[in-house]
Amino acid sequence: MSDPFQLGDRLRQRREQHLYRRRRALHSAQGTHIQCDGKPLLNFCSNDYLSLANHPRLISAAKKAVNTFGVGSGASHLVIGHSCLHQQLEERLADWVGRPRALLFSTGYMANMGVISALLKRGDTVFQDKVNHASLLDGAQLSRARLVRYPHCDTEHLQRLLSATDTPSLVVTDSIFSMDGDVAPLMDMARTCQNENAWLMVDDAHGLGVLGRGKGVLAEYNLSQSDVPVYMATLGKALGSYGAFVAGSDDLIEFLIQFSRSYIYTTAIPPAIAAASLESLSLLETETWRIDRLHSLIDYFRRAAAARQLPILSSQSAIQPFKIGDSERAVQISEKLQACGILVGAIRPPTVPVNTARLRITLQADHQEIEIDQLLDTLVSVFHQTDQQ
Ligand code: PMP
Repeated sequence: MSDPFQLGDRLRQRREQHLYRRRRALHSAQGTHIQCDGKPLLNFCSNDYLSLANHPRLISAAKKAVNTFGVGSGASHLVIGHSCLHQQLEERLADWVGRPRALLFSTGYMANMGVISALLKRGDTVFQDKVNHASLLDGAQLSRARLVRYPHCDTEHLQRLLSATDTPSLVVTDSIFSMDGDVAPLMDMARTCQNENAWLMVDDAHGLGVLGRGKGVLAEYNLSQSDVPVYMATLGKALGSYGAFVAGSDDLIEFLIQFSRSYIYTTAIPPAIAAASLESLSLLETETWRIDRLHSLIDYFRRAAAARQLPILSSQSAIQPFKIGDSERAVQISEKLQACGILVGAIRPPTVPVNTARLRITLQADHQEIEIDQLLDTLVSVFHQTDQQ
C-alpha cells in the first residue's frame, strides 16, 4: 500500500528523537496507589489534585443519576441533551466562581477552541503566552485571527504589543501553567488589558479547586468581571469529574450558545457526570481540609526537595516539575522511577519547548509525606545514575 503521508517515516523520526508516546493501561481507580499494566505503582502523574475522582460521594451521586437519567445524554445541549442536572450545575458553577452565568462544554479542549474561535474573526488579534496550553493555541488557529505569542509572563512586552495594535484584541493565558506550575501575573495583565481596551481570557484548568479556597484564581486575586471578562475552567482535574465550563456575562454566554461550534455540534456530557461535579462542589465546601492538605504537601515537597538540593522551580502549585532538558534522559529517568514502583511522566516537545523536557510531578491531597520522601530519595539516586552514564 502506498504511504502518501509518510506515516512510517514520521513515526520512525519520532522514535529516533525520543519523542514517541506510549500509553499505559490502568487497572484500578485513580488514586495515589494504582495498578498499571498489572503492577502496583505510587502515582505522581494525575491531575486529581484533591483525590476526589474515586470519592464515595461522587460515585454514589453518579450512580443515583444513572438510575434516573440513564447513561448517555442522547443529543447536544441545543437539541434535547440539556438535562436539569446540567442546568443546575451551570448555575452552581457561576455562583461558585462569582460570575453571572456559566456554560458547560464537553471538555476543556473544546471550551478553549469554541470560545476563541467564536469570539475572534479574521482581522482581530489574539495574544497568547508562549507556553499556553495547546487547546488555546489551536483555538487561535481556528479563529483565523492574527496570533501573537509573547514571552512567558512578560506583561511589559505584552503592553508594548497591545499599544501597537488597533484591532479588537483578546489576551489569553493559563492561570497556573500546566507544565511549569507557576501562576500568570493576572493582576498586572488585567490592568494592562483594561488600559489597552483588550479582553482577558483566563484558563483556570489547574487553579479551580486549588486556589482561592477552591473557588479558583478569580477568588485568589479578587479579579472582577471587568478584569477577566472570559473565565474558563475544567472539571476533570481537581474536581475529580469531567468536562469544562466558561463563565462570564449574560451576553458572553448567550453569544457562545449561538456561535460556539464546539458547544453547538457535540453531545452533552452524561447527566451522571454533571451530578458528580455537583457533588464535588459540595465536597469543596464540606471537606475543606483537602485543600489545606494539598497546600501543606506542596510546602513539604518544596522543602524536602530543596533539602536534597534538587532543582525545584518557582511553582507554588500542585504541579512541581524538574527540568531535565534532554528528552532521552527524561524518558530514562521516568523509566527508572517506574522500575522502582513510582510513576512520574516525562514531558517532552512539542508539549514543552525544545530542550526543556521535564519530569512533571503532581501532588494530591491523599499523598503522604513519607511517599514524597520515597519519591525524592529515589529521584536523587536515579539522577545520580543517569548523570554518570
Ligand atoms: N487547559 C489546560 C491548561 C489544560 O491543562 C488542559 C488539560 N490538560 C485543558 C485545557 C484541556 O482540558 P480537558 O482535559 O478537559 O480537555
